[in-house]
Amino acid sequence: MLEVKKKVTITIIYDNNPCDNRLRTAWGFSCLIEKGEEKVLFDTGGDTATLIENMGILKKEPESIDLIVLSHPHADHTGGLSAILRQNKGVKLYLGASFPESFKVWAKEEGADVIEVYKAEEIYKDFYTTGELGRGIKEQSLVMKTERGLIVITGCAHPGIVSILQEVRREFNEKIYLVLGGFHLGEVDVSKDLRRLGVERVAPCHCTGNKAIAFLEREYGNDFIRNGVGRVI
Ligand SMILES: [Zn+2]
Ligand SMILES: [Zn+2]
Repeated sequence: MLEVKKKVTITIIYDNNPCDNRLRTAWGFSCLIEKGEEKVLFDTGGDTATLIENMGILKKEPESIDLIVLSHPHADHTGGLSAILRQNKGVKLYLGASFPESFKVWAKEEGADVIEVYKAEEIYKDFYTTGELGRGIKEQSLVMKTERGLIVITGCAHPGIVSILQEVRREFNEKIYLVLGGFHLGEVDVSKDLRRLGVERVAPCHCTGNKAIAFLEREYGNDFIRNGVGRVI
């Protein structure tokens, strides 16, 4: 039987870059990935008020989320979590094993079904984690398999965006269609490295850095996606 893959929609619900004027910007990152009925929240932004207000305007319901993936423990990615947990008891929460013990205990008390991530694995149909990468600040990225290739979503990319993508190529052995999220580059130009890795499209936001974004825009042209809060991809 022919399997028709469902369309993937990614909505940026929290970011420090503006896009949809109805939404509030604040330092941090969160996006909602919808694939048919499946809803995955990646990171939760820096505060509950902005996250909930933006979700309300976008008509996204905290209680409809199936699972949450937290890239790393920094407050600009975990600050909105309590608002989701309040309205969604028992939600699956994938976080790196290196998260502070106190955070894990707190999340369990708030009703989350905490699952600790060590290495690359499938966490949901066609959704994968890279596992925790990096030697300093450990971080996991989210990988989705789609008809067009892999979609990779990063939080801050502290292990290095190029290292993360090299690891994704090695682990999944498929072409990378899109990379989206914070790349944490400042003024570093990685556009040629991303080309070399076969990345087809880029949608940098959050902590990427204006200079680095400009380099990517110049290299990628029509395959560069201007990213910010409210962007739907
Ligand atoms: Zn960070
Ligand atoms: Zn960040």
